[in-house]
Amino acid sequence: MATTAVLEIEREEKIMPTILPSSSSTSAFTTQEYINLENTYGARNYHPLEVVITRGEGVWVWDTEGNQYLDCLSAYSALNQGHCHPRILKALTEQAARLTLTSRAFYNDQLGLFYEKICKISGFPRVLPMNTGAEAVETAIKAVRKWAYTVKGVPADKAEIIVCSNNFAGRTISIISFSTEQQYRFGFAPFTPGFKIVPYGDAAALEAAITPNTAAFFLEPIQGEGGIIVPPEGYLREAERICRQNNVLLILDEIQTGLGRTGKMFAFEHEGIKPDGITVGKALSGGFYPISAFLSTHEVMDVFRPGDHGSTFGGNPLAAAVGMAALDVIVDENLPERAASLGAYFLERLRQIPSPHIKEVRGKGLLIGVELKPSAYGARRFCKALMQLGILAKETRENVIRFAPPLVITRPQLDWALERIERVLTTL
Ligand SMILES: *Cc1c(COP(=O)(O)O)cnc(C)c1O
Repeated sequence: MATTAVLEIEREEKIMPTILPSSSSTSAFTTQEYINLENTYGARNYHPLEVVITRGEGVWVWDTEGNQYLDCLSAYSALNQGHCHPRILKALTEQAARLTLTSRAFYNDQLGLFYEKICKISGFPRVLPMNTGAEAVETAIKAVRKWAYTVKGVPADKAEIIVCSNNFAGRTISIISFSTEQQYRFGFAPFTPGFKIVPYGDAAALEAAITPNTAAFFLEPIQGEGGIIVPPEGYLREAERICRQNNVLLILDEIQTGLGRTGKMFAFEHEGIKPDGITVGKALSGGFYPISAFLSTHEVMDVFRPGDHGSTFGGNPLAAAVGMAALDVIVDENLPERAASLGAYFLERLRQIPSPHIKEVRGKGLLIGVELKPSAYGARRFCKALMQLGILAKETRENVIRFAPPLVITRPQLDWALERIERVLTTL
């Protein structure tokens, strides 16, 4: 991959990559056969668009018929670094050939280096590694509850965590216990108690909900799955003030907003605040591998004693090596700065589209939602039309098209996408 720089210049000019996938015409099955296999043997817990992807490179993916698409979903922001980033791939293959898993019963020679890197980048002094985002959130819940009992002095079993309506934090029983989305909950009771729900963006409601038993306020800096909801300016600062005043921990879920997506390394930086902890995941591996973490202060993290919490794969040397390379790419390729400038441009151009269907265009950095009016009959049909023109985007909630391309995208590539997005939004 010594030609990466050359390729990048070529792409600036030609937009499309010059190298076609070698696998484009060698698929053993037809598109429909692959789809049928998934539908026949798999649980039906997803409703994918009918495209079968076989290869990815940077912002592009190819289906089994050789069609090329610009990925505007980035696996829900897990691919901030783009598909199959060569530097992360190298770290993965080299580490995979040497040592993959030790369990935490022993030390390994990658984990400490990963810890140091992520702590320095985030500004938090301590980290606890897990695998999926939901596990990082579960870890945060455990940490703040134990902090409430052992540090704050909340009576046994009384700790409360305040969360926001319209949140998304994963799919475990405890996490869906504080969801306000009926579909995420229906049929899965009984739920975990101890959560209080307040409206998102309403600092007064947070203040009113706090009791002496409140351990933490846990929220997304921008709600991703909830429809790209950006709270009012100053909300996080106000939340921080209220939490400090009441000895309540402020924990932010940065699994989707973190690692450059919104134009800063972490979304909390937009308001210059310092939360007591954050959860990260998704782009922490650049899409190669599930890696997540809970980052926090000494005071919170020190509640964990050996045996309190753990994970067989969490903190394994392969994850640590991949995580380090993924973080290096974000820093060295200035991905937060790219997201800030390209995101502002994308947002402005989307706002200029004269479409009768658009209710609102909103977002920060390259996390952008186009909310459609009820008269548009849902976002999914627009996503299908975009797919026909070579753009993969996915609706979130019913009426919002999410645009969150890899942060390595170039301005000519955005222009290429904008022309097609405009065509779909003005002619459908
Ligand atoms: C995706 C996401 C999660 C859950 O991550 P998984 O890896 O799917 O468990 C949690 N919080 C937020 C904000 C997310 O976007």
